[in-house]
Amino acid sequence: MQALRQFYQSRYYKKSLYGVIGLGVIGAILVVSTKIRKQQSKQQSLNQFQSNEQSLQGTIFNKLDKCSLSNIDQVKTLNTSISLEIDFVQQILTGRVILKMKAIKSVNKIQLDAKMLSIKGVKVNDQETQFHYKELVVKELGDQLEIFTEKQENEEFQVEIIYSTQQNINNEQVAQNWLQPSQTFGNKHPFLFTQSEAIYARSLYPCQDSPSIKSTFDIELTVPAPLKAFGSGLLVQETSKDNKNIFQFKQPVAIPSYLFAICAGDLEKKKISERTFVISEPILINKCANEFSDMEKYLSTIEEYLTPYKWNEYTVIVLPKAFPYGGMENPNLTFLSPSLVVGDKSETAVLIHEMIHSWSGNSMTCQNWECFWLNEGITTFIENKMVGKIFGKDQQTLHGLLGDNSLQKSINNFGAEHTYTTLSPKLDQQNPDDCFSVIPYQKGCQFLRFLEGQIGEQKFQEFIRLIVSQDTLNSEQFRSLLEKFLLENNIEGVDIQWQSWIIDPGMPKEKLKIEEQFSKKYEKLANDLYDNQMQLDDFQNLHSNEKCFILDLIGNKDIDQRILKNLEEEYQLFESNNPEILHRILIYGIKNNYPVALGDKLSDFLRANGRMKFICPVYRALAEKNREIGLRIFNMCKNSYHSIASAQIQKMFGI
Ligand SMILES: [Zn+2]
Repeated sequence: MQALRQFYQSRYYKKSLYGVIGLGVIGAILVVSTKIRKQQSKQQSLNQFQSNEQSLQGTIFNKLDKCSLSNIDQVKTLNTSISLEIDFVQQILTGRVILKMKAIKSVNKIQLDAKMLSIKGVKVNDQETQFHYKELVVKELGDQLEIFTEKQENEEFQVEIIYSTQQNINNEQVAQNWLQPSQTFGNKHPFLFTQSEAIYARSLYPCQDSPSIKSTFDIELTVPAPLKAFGSGLLVQETSKDNKNIFQFKQPVAIPSYLFAICAGDLEKKKISERTFVISEPILINKCANEFSDMEKYLSTIEEYLTPYKWNEYTVIVLPKAFPYGGMENPNLTFLSPSLVVGDKSETAVLIHEMIHSWSGNSMTCQNWECFWLNEGITTFIENKMVGKIFGKDQQTLHGLLGDNSLQKSINNFGAEHTYTTLSPKLDQQNPDDCFSVIPYQKGCQFLRFLEGQIGEQKFQEFIRLIVSQDTLNSEQFRSLLEKFLLENNIEGVDIQWQSWIIDPGMPKEKLKIEEQFSKKYEKLANDLYDNQMQLDDFQNLHSNEKCFILDLIGNKDIDQRILKNLEEEYQLFESNNPEILHRILIYGIKNNYPVALGDKLSDFLRANGRMKFICPVYRALAEKNREIGLRIFNMCKNSYHSIASAQIQKMFGI
């Protein structure tokens, strides 16, 4: 960082000198004013740094990541070797983890993040070692395991911890989601999946649970036969013993703890191409293989825009409905929601998004959760480009517009001045999930689109390749790399508008530019639908993105019972099997007390889906308009939701 800044400054001043010679007095004025601005901003960042230092004095936090209770500025993990037995009866994981670590400076203890773990013993370099398990050190961040051992700077050592997870009786927010057979598609066997992002890996094993700490992994999972288990790595070995199946995986690329994932159940794997695979419950495997049969094409298209895929195999696993997200980019084991399996490949943009994370997020990783936009904004920006290359320009425009709509809705929900609407939210003793929304995705994407518009598509592609080749990044480092890139490439006149995009809350000024013809076409379709002038066949032949966009457009008009009746009877929208469409129409119905939207259709929808993108806006509408029905359905469904989703919904109802 320091070397980079010196290099940048020397280039900067040399370049300024040419400006003075070339442009005379005007140039000189520009240089002087720019220098003053630079000095001011340098002073500002110095002040900021000092105030951060002061506020951290006397607290338990490290200085790099306020969501981790580990002393990550003193020690770091190099390799994680984890061996777990999955106990479906007690719903716990038992086993051991060996952390190969290195002291960054001399230390007398190691602090690890933990949550609801029972520690049986700790050894450092094979010697029994004293430890202290502190519960709820910070309520939002969980527990802390302190291990008392003295290590010298640069010393490498090994910490072995024997432990088990605890039963989650009080539905605390943890990574693991244990499902009953009735919650699976096959209805016969139990199921387990985990969700470590953002700060739940600590509920799976004691670790340095910060995205800035990356380690290689060896994973061993034991499950009762005939079930199978998968981990976020490449399969090394599969054996059976005493009616148990044992699977070993290796992750040779260093990854942060939030990308550690496991999954177990009645599962089948199917090859799509030499390096792409699909896993799901056997009953769903052919449907999934058809839906995602173009994975190789998607991966090659992304490689063309970025760089070669470095993780060897790419595998997706389609989970039961309780999975709270559209997808999760666990390396070599992308988790996907079954809501993407709609039969016509129209929801595969989520898969493309998760694939892109193999570069932005999993390879280049945000240093802490305050600069999460670096993972998601960059990925969403590339996703939009890839949708254009794979599905055509119109789909790309629609995809971008739907993203813009979701950003506007999210900013409206928070309020334009809310701190969570900035790309650099301050997380102090908070769970990053509290401020989770589409904002880092869509506002981050719009910022990059804004930059690309000034820099040019080809040059910006070079810059994006440079960014994804980094190991970890924070927002300031991103800015330095951008400024250095512009200087090196003699690109002048770029107005970054850092303050308004990255620091300020609210909606950015830059809107996606669309052709007039394009917007007129969809406005007409929306009017036709609203006025009941469209043929059912014509409506049904539209792509689901087009239907969603039109539905968003009619949301700007007055929707009353008569309009809803048309949408129900003439266009059968309440019968849609695509949750992207159904959740939109349900929300319109709830807001207008439309009986169909408050009956079985609503409870069936909320029972059948666990993906937060769909259920959270529906519950939010219920919390505002029909609290009683909302709470009744939530109480009926909450055991089938992931604890992350339940916590979000409980907040909406203030319970
Ligand atoms: Zn993502």
